[in-house]
Amino acid sequence: MVLVYAESPKGQFKKSALEAVTYGKMVADAMGTSCTALVIGNAENAGQLGKYGASKVVQANGAFENFDSQVFATVIANAAKEMGAGVVIVNHSSSGKSLLGRLAVKLDAGSVSGVNSLPTVDGGFKVKKNVFSGKAIAEFEIKTAVKVLSLMGNSFPPAESGADVAVESMDANAPAAKITVKAVQTVDGTVPLPEAELVVSAGRGMKGPENWGIIDELANVVGATTACSRPVADIGWRPHHEHVGQTGVAIRPNLYFAIGISGAIQHLAGVNSSKVIVVINKDPEAPFFKAADYGVCADLFDVVPKLTEAFKKFNAAQ
Ligand SMILES: Cc1cc2nc3c(=O)[nH]c(=O)nc-3n(C[C@H](O)[C@H](O)[C@H](O)COP(=O)(O)OP(=O)(O)OC[C@H]3O[C@@H](n4cnc5c(N)ncnc54)[C@H](O)[C@@H]3O)c2cc1C
Repeated sequence: MVLVYAESPKGQFKKSALEAVTYGKMVADAMGTSCTALVIGNAENAGQLGKYGASKVVQANGAFENFDSQVFATVIANAAKEMGAGVVIVNHSSSGKSLLGRLAVKLDAGSVSGVNSLPTVDGGFKVKKNVFSGKAIAEFEIKTAVKVLSLMGNSFPPAESGADVAVESMDANAPAAKITVKAVQTVDGTVPLPEAELVVSAGRGMKGPENWGIIDELANVVGATTACSRPVADIGWRPHHEHVGQTGVAIRPNLYFAIGISGAIQHLAGVNSSKVIVVINKDPEAPFFKAADYGVCADLFDVVPKLTEAFKKFNAAQ
């Protein structure tokens, strides 16, 4: 059986949770088994996970106000043991990353982080992931009875394959927390970068933080999340959580606008899995053009407002 932990921060399932369940169902099909979704704590309409392929949804009840990786890992591992799960899947989110290693230890399991392909199961359980900043693909064989995977965001879109199912409750058997979460500050209103399908990103070519209005406006008009290059975050023009690249957030949106960013290898490392890349840069020799699907060689202060106007007209005509 394949067990998927479906994250439900603030009682809501994000797209990534639906992706994980969709992927879990596909893994289960490949293995000739079923997929169960595990929800921890409060979650609105957990039965909807059935639509995405879970034949069973189990909700571990208890007071889980804030995510605590030690407590959650114990709950997931206990559930996996009780249900006899052969594969456990979490998202490759910040929560999932902190669960993966703990789950592997608790379940005596081999684990692979950030997988982006379906496993092959004939002649060994093998999965693939990108390595060396997306420049190569590695294949791993997991040899243990239980396997733990974290799924890279935007690798498998949520796909409906069934109908809502009844939600079963289970006793979470949660251990006492060893830490207390004192405060959580979240950035509301935008899709987090690892989940964003559209990203508008800008770099040092913007000349200063006072010029970011045109980036925010373009992002608003297309419904994108904003990002930036590292130096821009380092000098305080933008918040650090927007920094993408080797040392920042790794993303794989459907569309990535790189505006006034040179395309240094360390930046590309975090964005080159984007499905379509549009580069706006006034230097024809900018390395980013080599990675671009579409390139505009022009002054960004001229092009970006025109692009925004064109999107506004397009939206109005819809
Ligand atoms: C260990 C290490 C890790 C790193 N990790 C990261 C990382 O994770 N992410 C990251 O981004 N960087 C990272 N860097 C830094 C990276 O090497 C580059 O220095 C950085 O990406 C450059 O940022 P930039 O493109 O915004 O700025 P610049 O290199 O200064 O490029 C600005 C670009 O804007 C263009 N431009 C200027 N004016 C205009 C205009 N008016 N119209 C159009 N285009 C214009 C220029 O032609 C230029 O190409 C790392 C470096 C190291 C050593």
